[in-house]
Amino acid sequence: MPKRSWAEPFKIKMVEHLRMTTREERERAIAEAGFNTFLLRSADVYIDLLTDSGTSAMSDRQWAGMMLGDEAYAGSANFYHLEEVVRRYYGYQHVIPTHQGRGAEHILSRLCIRPGDIIAGNMYFTTTKAHQELVGGKFVDVIIDAAHDPDSEHSFKGDIDLGKLQRVIDQFGATKIAYLCVGATVNMAGGQPISLANLRDVSALCRKHGIRIFLDATRAVENAYFIKLREPGQADRTLTDILRDLCACTDGCTMSGKKDCLVNIGGFLALNDDELADAARNMVVLFEGLHTYGGLAGRDMEAMAIGIQESVDFDHMRARIGQVEYLGRLLIEGGIPLVRPVGGHGIFLDAARFLPHLPREQFPAQSLAAALYVDSGVRAMERGAVSAGRDATTGRNIFPSLELVRLTIPRRVYTQAHMDVTAESVIELHRNREKIVGLRFTYEPKHLRFFQARFEPVEGKRVLRV
Ligand SMILES: *Cc1c(COP(=O)(O)O)cnc(C)c1O
Repeated sequence: MPKRSWAEPFKIKMVEHLRMTTREERERAIAEAGFNTFLLRSADVYIDLLTDSGTSAMSDRQWAGMMLGDEAYAGSANFYHLEEVVRRYYGYQHVIPTHQGRGAEHILSRLCIRPGDIIAGNMYFTTTKAHQELVGGKFVDVIIDAAHDPDSEHSFKGDIDLGKLQRVIDQFGATKIAYLCVGATVNMAGGQPISLANLRDVSALCRKHGIRIFLDATRAVENAYFIKLREPGQADRTLTDILRDLCACTDGCTMSGKKDCLVNIGGFLALNDDELADAARNMVVLFEGLHTYGGLAGRDMEAMAIGIQESVDFDHMRARIGQVEYLGRLLIEGGIPLVRPVGGHGIFLDAARFLPHLPREQFPAQSLAAALYVDSGVRAMERGAVSAGRDATTGRNIFPSLELVRLTIPRRVYTQAHMDVTAESVIELHRNREKIVGLRFTYEPKHLRFFQARFEPVEGKRVLRV
């Protein structure tokens, strides 16, 4: 068959210049940043793959929507537009805007978790778990084992192990379980999707025991795309129909609009239960703002309403995930150890196997992210032991099975050539992996330490020897 390429369903209308730096400049910048890519100045970064959060390029329609901001304190027209769009695409009755995803997580955790409660879920997410623990809850992982195995080619590594969930119910009792927290796709597992069939089974089990389910809908549209491609019987359905089915298995969602919804800031809490929604509207006033703006400007809500409609377009999602797959293919061909199959929002390098000479105590993923920046100005993020933090009871470092570096692809921002440059740098580093030096803490914050921690090389001054 002749090769038929496809490309993005958009063209570029405006450009943002990037500063090119020398290796010397980057060595200085990473040392000043305590070898933590979160502490680099963005002006010192060439290709920024730190996160896909709030880094999307908005469309001309979204920018036009920004001009339609109704900045009334109460009852903004943009709120009603957002509410109508969320109801239409996600199917939940009540919509409460928040400044971003963790605002929604905070409200939901405070309302639904009592001290000593259990929250079960398909792998933790950093901010979600932090809020659950802040109100005295304990997170228990019930994801399938394949999710912890970077080599497993399972199509739905975000699936929940029904046996594990049943055992949690038996051990603690259904009334001790605040709710089930379902991620779609599962960020920390490498952007891996959950199947509709699994979520339906999980939902039936939870309903039987009277346990509520809340979806982390941050990347649920990307999850819907994987369901369409991989799940039997779903190929001919629209992303919108699949998304509605996913949400229908749950009682509500927290949403970071900074991912799927294609905006730079925003989020919401969506609920079906009238009483819980009333309680959430009462609480959001305390922490975010009135329930018709929740910390957002009217223009932000308008951009999010338009972004949601753009996000469910099949061609958009094919280009978005296609670009991630393109980078994944280059790296796999280059012999780079990474989490397979390639997920929705980024490539997750297996740093433990990339740097077998570094013990886990020297944070190989943190070192690799720092070395990548020094080599090419590409900024990635650690997703391993530093992100996992310390055990709340023992105070000991948690060493999760996955020690990863995430190359996260912003939506509609970079070109195929940027992906080429990134792959070449990773492959070159892999060839010279013995030159990468381990790191140790010089400053360790108490909460979400990965954001602000500082490090130094365990020997010498460089993380990437010359
Ligand atoms: C980003 C993210 C959040 C938190 O949302 P913020 O908008 O950053 O507060 C929650 N869950 C997942 C899966 C995320 O990726």
